[in-house]
Amino acid sequence: MSYISEVYETLTVKYPHEKEFLQAVKEVLDSLAPVIEANEERYRRISLLERLVEPERIISFRVPWVDDNGKVQVNRGYRVQFNSAIGPYKGGLRFHPSVNQGILKFLGFEQIFKNSLTGLPIGGGKGGSDFDPHGKSDREVMAFCQSFMNELYRHIGADEDVPAGDIGVGAREIGYLYGQYKRLTGLYEGVLTGKGLSYGGSLTRTEATGYGLLYITDEMIRRAGKSIEGKTIVVSGSGNVAIFAIEKAYQLGGKVVTASDSNGYIYDANGINLDVLKKIKLQDRARIKEYLNYVPAAEYHENEKPWNVKCDIALPCATQNEINGESARTLLGNGCWCVAEGANMPSDLEAIEQFVNSGILYMPAKAANAGGVSVSALEMSQNSQRLSWTFEEVDARLKEIMKNIYNKVSASAEKYGYKGNFVVGANIAGFEKVAEAMEAQGIV
Ligand code: NDP
Repeated sequence: MSYISEVYETLTVKYPHEKEFLQAVKEVLDSLAPVIEANEERYRRISLLERLVEPERIISFRVPWVDDNGKVQVNRGYRVQFNSAIGPYKGGLRFHPSVNQGILKFLGFEQIFKNSLTGLPIGGGKGGSDFDPHGKSDREVMAFCQSFMNELYRHIGADEDVPAGDIGVGAREIGYLYGQYKRLTGLYEGVLTGKGLSYGGSLTRTEATGYGLLYITDEMIRRAGKSIEGKTIVVSGSGNVAIFAIEKAYQLGGKVVTASDSNGYIYDANGINLDVLKKIKLQDRARIKEYLNYVPAAEYHENEKPWNVKCDIALPCATQNEINGESARTLLGNGCWCVAEGANMPSDLEAIEQFVNSGILYMPAKAANAGGVSVSALEMSQNSQRLSWTFEEVDARLKEIMKNIYNKVSASAEKYGYKGNFVVGANIAGFEKVAEAMEAQGIV
């Protein structure tokens, strides 16, 4: 049995219920085959892969809080500190009822390679809770965030572990979390990113993941001799990543015809009206079907995903496994020639295989959505220097980082004989730096 298969088989026995984690590990390890095989004896001796797939630490805790009816609610909180070989743990917090240890391990594992790809000194981590902010009052969200931080503060710090937002954790939640951290520790430090501009946040952080997704997509498309100008784009999701992906797609001349939430999707043949979408989602925190109240000519498809809509470019920006093999076949059958992932692991293993084998332009999440964590790292730098850079300065750095990521991913793929396969390219490019740092630091 190959070294990769051995390590993967052991994991399936140890963690049979952590399906998303096993899926993420399989995708990464399989594509690392060329580099693992070239160094197999050395890596086996130091159990490099066994250490890479086992988090350095997982903190799991009770989060009790009082709802508006005076009833005590109890949620589970987690922080997975996966790998600190190249820097302090860095990765978002997700508040969603589906959150469990396996999902956070998949997200933390992906984060290791993504953070390495950015070229910035940040390790991989992820955290969150099964708390659902939907439909909660601001006071309830605050009560939850304060209780969550009452435990988390012991384990994080500006040079130790720096969480940020993810699904269900935006500016409001980061504000409450930061306030409680400061109250508990007395420290005014860059311990969280995605902070408000009035208390240490960075310009462009809100837009960073969506903008970064379009910067790398644009780079990939231009290198292939094409352009986003005039192309039809399908987007899923209507949260932070989706909204700013749509904004940048319009700035680059594309036409976005869909947006979705967990109840269904909107199709607007004239192009999604971004002002309306922002009002519904950022201001009113309402459901996407409200879009029809503003644009009656649009269509709403309840309980469906937008992958049967004909498009040139698909940008999944909602959640994991939102594109399965069948959806991938439908997209390809309708002439889609470019897929770039804003969400983490939005394509399942069968969908990835379809995209890679079809030879379309396909940029996987760990490269495509690295803009968010990149600007988070720039926020950390500004906090350490007690400086605030301008929007233009941060945006220019983000663009440069995304271009560098494209170059690294593309070069790694080519170096190992997989030209144009950005899945192999992203995984190998991310892995090499982490592996070298782990080896240099000994058995820790
Ligand atoms: P938000 O909470 O702002 O938005 C999430 C969007 O996805 C909402 O429209 C939500 O709909 C939808 N969604 C969530 N779960 C499901 C589901 N199970 N089925 C269908 N739709 C769903 O999160 P973000 O925009 O921040 O995150 C989106 C994705 O991008 C995630 O995969 C995240 O890990 C990834 N990402 C985010 C980064 C960031 O900087 N924020 C950085 C890198 C990656 P509803 O409101 O109905 O639940």
